[in-house]
Amino acid sequence: MRAFIFLLAASALFAQDAVRLMEDPTIKAALDAVKRNEPHFIDEQIRICEIPAPPFHEEARGRELERLFKGLGLKDVRIDKAGNVIGVRPGASPHPNLVFQGHLDTVFPEGTDVRVKRDGTVLKGPGIGDDCRGLVVVLGVIQALNDAHVQTPGTITFVADTGEEGLGDLRGTKNLFNDSLKGQIDKFISVDGTGLSITNVGVGSYRYRVEFKGPGGHSFGAFGMANPIQAMGRAIAKIDNFDVPKNPKTTFNVGRVGGGTSVNAIPFECWMEVDMRSSDQASLESVNAKFKAAVSEAVEEENHRWTLRGSVTANPELVGYRPPGVTNADSAIVITALAVSKIFGFTGTPGEGSTDSNVPMNLGIPAITIGGGGRGTGAHSLDETYDTKDSYLGTQRGLLLAVALAR
Ligand SMILES: [Zn+2]
Repeated sequence: MRAFIFLLAASALFAQDAVRLMEDPTIKAALDAVKRNEPHFIDEQIRICEIPAPPFHEEARGRELERLFKGLGLKDVRIDKAGNVIGVRPGASPHPNLVFQGHLDTVFPEGTDVRVKRDGTVLKGPGIGDDCRGLVVVLGVIQALNDAHVQTPGTITFVADTGEEGLGDLRGTKNLFNDSLKGQIDKFISVDGTGLSITNVGVGSYRYRVEFKGPGGHSFGAFGMANPIQAMGRAIAKIDNFDVPKNPKTTFNVGRVGGGTSVNAIPFECWMEVDMRSSDQASLESVNAKFKAAVSEAVEEENHRWTLRGSVTANPELVGYRPPGVTNADSAIVITALAVSKIFGFTGTPGEGSTDSNVPMNLGIPAITIGGGGRGTGAHSLDETYDTKDSYLGTQRGLLLAVALAR
């Protein structure tokens, strides 16, 4: 009970702090600067979106962010070995050190037409919201802090990171925490996509590609031989029967299959791609262990059933791992984020997602992912749109939150 009362008191304090912070003349000036600068940053959002950043090839967009970071006067601007662009805006003290970032990469392959069309307030182009919006929120926050000469007590390290999407596997953020900024990050905000959402639960995942191989042969002449596709069928049937917890939500999916050469041939190979998710480490490890057992049992059963010439093998290759994690709803960072977001009209509750914040969440470092404001549709599709109506509120929310946490 005492803890509960303390929690209420603390949350009220944080909310008051946020409002009080907003009334500070310097911060007020910074928020005004955000609004004034917004048309420029919408132009920048379009320009940055038109620099392709396909998976594993964010270099060109990264070099442009490096140039912009330098132009904005950030210190120690550099590109690390994972391609992350890093720049520091020192505070009165090096700690707490808040990382504030957006991701460079898109899901779109090389050669995609990334030109942006503008129709009134609506921009249309692949990646325009996810995450060109996040990148310009980062830039807009730096510009406004500079314009209003805001001096934060702690330091803010701004990052444009690589490898957030798909098989990029959070490689940029993993490298920040394991190498380039190892041990130096106290708090973490990722600006990803649109709207005013807050994500405090990181859904982790294991992803595999499994190849099944066998000798292969004629469907009639070699009958009696173990069959990779039939072994894979056994594995899929086992996976389909997995019991998984509803809470924390834990899932599995065989998403793609392929293989075989002909209707009248025993195949020599086939493959499947499997994805498993949970925000809870133990549940994720448990479904992962069941998956591995299912594959080896399926192969064993197939080889036991058919013994003519050779046998089937399976080779599960890990193609993705996102660590799960949670930043507790009653932690200071989440309470502050809610208090700040309410000022800008956010009425929802924090949710779950699979974002760069998974990495710090898993390490126990306070982290959230927030939207960049405005309204987006069709993320990860060629028809992605971004409505810039009142989009400055997203940058203002980001700025106030950054200032509230860099102390
Ligand atoms: Zn994204």
